[in-house]
Amino acid sequence: MNQDYIKPDNWSVIEEGFDTEQVKSSESLFSIGNGAMGQRANFEEQYSGPTFQGSYIAGVYYPDKTRVGWWKNGYPEYFAKVLNAPNWIGINIFVNGEPLDLFKCKSIANFRRELNMKEGWYKRTFEATLQNNITLRVESIRFLSLDLDEIGAIEYAVTPLNASAEINFGPYLDSGITNEDTNWDDKFWETVSVNHQEDRAFIISHTMKTNFFVCTFMQTQLALNGKVLTQEKKIDTRSNYIEFQYENEVDQGETLTLTKWGGYTVSLNHDKGQLEKVSNDLLEEASEMGFEKLLEKQKQAWKKIWDMADITIEGDVQAQQGIRFNIFHLNQTYLGKDARLNIGPKGFTGEKYGGSTYWDTEAYCIPFYMATKDQKVARNLLEYRYQHLEKAIENATKLGFTNGAALYPMVTMNGEECHNEWEITFEEIHRNGAIAFAIFNYHRFTGDYSYIPEKGLEVLIGIARFWHQRATYSDAKKKYVILGVTGPNEYENNVNNNFYTNYVAQWCISYAIENIRKIKNEFDSDYTRIITKTKLSNSEIDAWKLVADNMYFPYSEERQIYLQQDGFLDKELITVSDLPKDQRPINQKWSWDRILRSPYIKQADVLQCIYFFEDNFTDEELKRHFDFYEPFTVHESSLSPCVHSIQAAKLGRMEQAYEFYLRTSRLDLDDYNHEVHEGLHITSMAGTWMSIVEGFGGMRVMDNMLSFSPKIPDQWDAYSFKINFRDQTLKINVDQNKTSFQLDGSAELQILVNDALVSIKPNNLVTI
Ligand code: BGC
Repeated sequence: MNQDYIKPDNWSVIEEGFDTEQVKSSESLFSIGNGAMGQRANFEEQYSGPTFQGSYIAGVYYPDKTRVGWWKNGYPEYFAKVLNAPNWIGINIFVNGEPLDLFKCKSIANFRRELNMKEGWYKRTFEATLQNNITLRVESIRFLSLDLDEIGAIEYAVTPLNASAEINFGPYLDSGITNEDTNWDDKFWETVSVNHQEDRAFIISHTMKTNFFVCTFMQTQLALNGKVLTQEKKIDTRSNYIEFQYENEVDQGETLTLTKWGGYTVSLNHDKGQLEKVSNDLLEEASEMGFEKLLEKQKQAWKKIWDMADITIEGDVQAQQGIRFNIFHLNQTYLGKDARLNIGPKGFTGEKYGGSTYWDTEAYCIPFYMATKDQKVARNLLEYRYQHLEKAIENATKLGFTNGAALYPMVTMNGEECHNEWEITFEEIHRNGAIAFAIFNYHRFTGDYSYIPEKGLEVLIGIARFWHQRATYSDAKKKYVILGVTGPNEYENNVNNNFYTNYVAQWCISYAIENIRKIKNEFDSDYTRIITKTKLSNSEIDAWKLVADNMYFPYSEERQIYLQQDGFLDKELITVSDLPKDQRPINQKWSWDRILRSPYIKQADVLQCIYFFEDNFTDEELKRHFDFYEPFTVHESSLSPCVHSIQAAKLGRMEQAYEFYLRTSRLDLDDYNHEVHEGLHITSMAGTWMSIVEGFGGMRVMDNMLSFSPKIPDQWDAYSFKINFRDQTLKINVDQNKTSFQLDGSAELQILVNDALVSIKPNNLVTI
């Protein structure tokens, strides 16, 4: 654990005391979002200390030209950057002519931030003494509306405590902003117009190359002791900036409050010629409703989310805060309203990995969204990949594959590969497997097969074609091998026969064939359409099958384990516990070549395979592999601890499962990986949810039936979660002695609890 400044609290994230060293970390931790936009918790007023400014709009990106030392054929031309969007939160404050800047104040007292996760708002309070000896109390609260998701609101109140003062507020819009993360320091935005109308201002700008048009807007209102002021203002208009300037004499103890509405309308959702008008209408609607009412609606909207998604933990505040923090940020990032959007590893909280889509969505996020939202949301996530199928085929074609083989990108915004590290782009091909697995997982959980004949099968065919072509027949082994890959463990590159990759390749082919047969028998017209479109023949399927049936898997007879890749046992097998602490994290301390030669594993790899396909492995096999691989695992990917937590729980190792749980749920709150200042790890947050529901709750779906094998860590008195299963909601409550189930729905549900069949009638508490 690297930091412990966040106060334990069941529903809020709280920081007390001002520390300039923590500003960037807190900017990440206190980020807010509403699925359509999000922002780091930057101060509204000026701040000259170290800060990382970030506001982001869902779906708006920039194709930043690739920069590498040595160009390799096949590199993507660009790396998609999530864009730091124009700033609408800014408010300059001058007190007797001196800017309020927390980095330059004489002293700061009672500094406190609160991110109220229950109600979806962020508040900051402090008392600052400026160089001119005026002491002010400041209270600012802001939120991004879930209801009107193009708008946010700030209420910023200032009270001079020790003297009367001239206080000038300068709320502004600024479209002259840059990214921290750029390859060539290119300009990402061009401003088209800067306008104002009464108390409203609008800047239209567009992104270079991608041409997303955005209207950034604001409306401001001033009140003294709660009474609205109507007063003249000065307007400072520049080429990409507009500021309203209000001058006020404020008596000691009086409170001057600025209400600022702001946000974005985007050409993704509106006619680009209408953006200013749409923004104006939105401001009209929001300001008529008023700050309090919109905030009230915000609380109700979050209540609705929590009613379904909350997990309660009794007797362990740290664990409770951790899981709510994860659930909260997942919902801030993606709500499933728009099938064009996806879940970026850092959501709206940072630029690195940004809002691009990774295999994380399919491998980690889909279960959370399936179980806590309407099944349409998970289906939207699957459709996102269906929409990108043509691009995945194009991508594979560029790399030399033929005949409709599809290689989905490791990183994408619009279906094109946009990552430019060769080992990721060319080699980390296992991502194709997760995309097929998600289709299987969706059907297994929701029972909705219709997706597969309608769309999924085409994806499965493209993926099967890829694996068939990517495998090589080894004369020496008399088996098919897959050479030159990077598995989920990115601390190995260009390895042969990564067990996970070979396994998932074999599974994808078999699953595609199984579905082709089913659709041929049961969905005649879909079958004809798909076969006509893909020109798939029986002989091609036979050729795939040959590969799947003869796939090679590296195995150690002596240890009775599958090897992560050929030659893994040649490494110097020193476990992580024998590594000096000052050598960790190795990705910050060691050269890349040293990492590659070492046995250290970034995240679950063989174990990821056993996690996905656990029915194909015995508990004994799980135990053997876990005992061999976990001791070499450094968990330097956020995606690592959750899978290990689930498996440790399955093995009944509750202390270990609990430790991994804390690590996954408080990864960012406690900054385990020393990088929270760059943004939060959003996608692994869904893994945290899995570690409770699948790990401790032991939830699985088997033969269309929910199954549980509940366990509880000693540290907890009880925990509960809800599952939306096929339009009925099942609530599960586990304490140290018993488990109870309550069904909200209309039809009796049969479930398995520790392998025994249990019937749950609607609105009946069943305790076991
Ligand atoms: C992990 C990948 C993951 C990516 C984005 C990397 O550190 O190794 O598995 O897809 O982060 O979360």
